[in-house]
Amino acid sequence: MTASTPSANYCSRDLREWLNHLSATDRLAVAKPGLGLKHELAAVSQTLERDKAALFPAPDGHPVPVVSNLLTSRRWIGDCLGVAEDQVISRYRDAVHHPLPWVEVDDGPVQAVVHKEVDITARLPVPTHNELDSGPYIAAGLMISRNPANGIQNVSIHRCQISGKDRIGVLLLPRHTWTYAQMAHENGQALEVAIVIGVDPASLLASQAVVPLDFDEMEIAGALHGKPVEMVKCKTNNVRVPARAEIVLEGRVLADVAEPEGPFGEFPQYYGRRANRHVIQVDAITHRTAPIFHTIVGGGMEHLLLGGLPREATLLETLQRNEPTVLDVHLSRGGICRYHLVVKVDKKQEGTPKNIMMGAFAGHYDIKQVIVVDRDVNIHDPEQVEWAVATRFQADRDLLVVNNTQGSKLDPTTTEGGVGAKMGLDATIPLAADEFTFTVIRVPGAGDIDLDIVLDDPGAAAAIIGDTDLGSET
Ligand code: MN
Repeated sequence: MTASTPSANYCSRDLREWLNHLSATDRLAVAKPGLGLKHELAAVSQTLERDKAALFPAPDGHPVPVVSNLLTSRRWIGDCLGVAEDQVISRYRDAVHHPLPWVEVDDGPVQAVVHKEVDITARLPVPTHNELDSGPYIAAGLMISRNPANGIQNVSIHRCQISGKDRIGVLLLPRHTWTYAQMAHENGQALEVAIVIGVDPASLLASQAVVPLDFDEMEIAGALHGKPVEMVKCKTNNVRVPARAEIVLEGRVLADVAEPEGPFGEFPQYYGRRANRHVIQVDAITHRTAPIFHTIVGGGMEHLLLGGLPREATLLETLQRNEPTVLDVHLSRGGICRYHLVVKVDKKQEGTPKNIMMGAFAGHYDIKQVIVVDRDVNIHDPEQVEWAVATRFQADRDLLVVNNTQGSKLDPTTTEGGVGAKMGLDATIPLAADEFTFTVIRVPGAGDIDLDIVLDDPGAAAAIIGDTDLGSET
């Protein structure tokens, strides 16, 4: 292995380390120079999304290249964290348990070039992804903001529409950035923010943790890296940003300003509609000497995986705190890695599955359906989960429906404000059931057969079947 190729147990700490690793392992496709920023780049990314990362030199002739598909599967997530695929959730939970505070440094590569005359699309190659998107969007920017009262930072990803040369329309769902913005706006102040583009996958995963308000997600990134993230103060405000990022847009979420944003193709595979939303005034752009722009195609595999895995890890944590018999959780691909959760439990008491459902609904408002299964079911296999529902669930006894709860505003079936219902399915075997009724059939020895030992040459069939001459029609 070369110095640029991280070994096992080594987490890539910036975008370039990860890209070098992908390139060295034949997982980075390089496009011909000059592909189009409008739709073409996203179309190529989507075609490669289960297979390779993609690097686009000179998109539309722009000097800054674009990269996409940093993560295409759970295996890649394990690889970027330096652990095996089945260790990813425990590694991530460990990082959430033992956050590592960042350290401030005086300068960093991300401020090698500073532009205080802002013209976003002149400086940055911002792509347009889905058919009905309102235009170019920064889709992979970590938005870092500060609690105006105590200075604690928050990290999350929000879709950022380019609304003008120094203006961004942004969707803030009612979580942490939104709360900080409310706090600032109540005092008539703008909320200082930074949009950080081009970081390592661990930092992207850290930004998606389901943790409480005032839990700085960059400390999870530090724990995943095994080393505190080096942060540098913005040039025009007090936000601290990763010193080794590629690009930073510094700005303010304005008070008392709302402008149209959307539509934008989102993770449920539908569009978030156009509406008046928050506005960010961009005050400066800083970047590396020759920066790389990262984009995430809305609704694509990278989008789903980035949201799914951290949610699984943090939901598992939440559920196990109250119910230690919970063994594992899975947010399914069909449930767009957000809405449908499967929980594996080693049930000891009959009522536990319904408590688990309520814990999951409260754990994140996106959770819409929870299926609880026994420990013999592989929750990562949708066929096995459906089998468990088919054979261990009765709707009159095992179904929990809760009306008028908070759901995802991006779920097209929720009403205004994201109100919808929750559904829980208990697909566990009743503790009182007689053992034989639920004894799963198996063929003894089926898992241990060595076909090289038991199978003969296929030609041996002729001696048994005989030589059948079908003749010829001609
Ligand atoms: Mn947060």
